[in-house]
Amino acid sequence: MDLARHGATPAGGVNRQALSMEEIAARRTLLQWAAGLDLRAGTDDAGNFFLRMEGSEPRAAAVLTGSHIDSQPTGGKFDGAYGVLAGLECLQAFRESGVRPRRSIEVVAWMNEEGSRFAPGMMGSSVFSGARTLPEILEVRDRQGITVRSALTTMQEAFPDLPRWELQRPLHAYVEAHIEQGPLLERHRRNIGVVTGIQGKRTFEVTVTGEQAHAGTAPRAERKDALLGALRAIDALCELCRDEADLARFTVGRMDLLPNAPSVVPARATFSIDLRHPDSCVLRELGDRIQAVCEHHAEPCGVRVRELSTSMSLEFPLAARELIEASARRLGIPSMEILSCAGHDARYLHEVCMAGMIFVPCKGGISHNEAESVEPGELADGARVLAETLWTLASQA
Ligand SMILES: [Zn+2]
Repeated sequence: MDLARHGATPAGGVNRQALSMEEIAARRTLLQWAAGLDLRAGTDDAGNFFLRMEGSEPRAAAVLTGSHIDSQPTGGKFDGAYGVLAGLECLQAFRESGVRPRRSIEVVAWMNEEGSRFAPGMMGSSVFSGARTLPEILEVRDRQGITVRSALTTMQEAFPDLPRWELQRPLHAYVEAHIEQGPLLERHRRNIGVVTGIQGKRTFEVTVTGEQAHAGTAPRAERKDALLGALRAIDALCELCRDEADLARFTVGRMDLLPNAPSVVPARATFSIDLRHPDSCVLRELGDRIQAVCEHHAEPCGVRVRELSTSMSLEFPLAARELIEASARRLGIPSMEILSCAGHDARYLHEVCMAGMIFVPCKGGISHNEAESVEPGELADGARVLAETLWTLASQA
């Protein structure tokens, strides 16, 4: 609740966008809370923010936990912020217990997870893990024309004393706690979700090109109606993606027509495709067939398919999932396996170390919404499982 004061909206939500003054103020609050805990604070060239509890073997690769404290423009109090605060809570509990971990444990707040001010999202974690390079993100501009480079400088100038730690430092493991942003845990009355993996997504733009003609005079046989071509293609794609288990998610959310006039046969129809599936092989296969299906069904119109973004589905390693499940069991907190249908920074950390995620319920599955709400007891359960998991990981040789 205290962190949510930074960027608080009248409707009870949070507007704390990446590298904003609100995020700077929130990081300042994190530093104040960390002050009495003998933690070292640091940042890196991508603007990620770290709080580190030194282990008894400080040269061993650290265990990392955290999430993000940037939000959507009309976001909630818990998306991201929960993972960072749960991590800090764990470090405070270790400190107050007088115990010292073998490996160092760090809490991270990643730079720009949401991607709402600067697109795409997960900038900080992707640069940290080496999936993107720093030059790739620095020239990205927000709607005011401000570059990531200049916003990063503002952030760095606000904390001139923070040392810059290396990007792509070796890590022992990464565990991210997050609200589910869906209804399953609540529905099954489990306070802990052991996340099995993150669903992949491919997005496309399809352009169907026909021929502009007079709505009254052009005979049917001679028409090349781009809209009808697009509708036949979409219908066929819908069939292609229909599966018994209802795993594939196929959405056409936008369509533009040219010239978009009531008495003109459309010359061009452009539509979007958002395609998701938990199994990477199926996602690849379905996406790869889009071009052929469109070409076949849009005839006699021409078709151009452009893939806009690709992120394959991933499965977290069994070792991480078993560890989280065992932690919950030891604490007597009911858990269940769950697939993340939304993206998270853990996607990129999964590429460089053993990664896992812990979900807690959120009321009605409502998220990316000012009404986001979670029961304190559920948040506490998540933090306890996180503490147990972090301690086990930090004790490993
Ligand atoms: Zn999030």
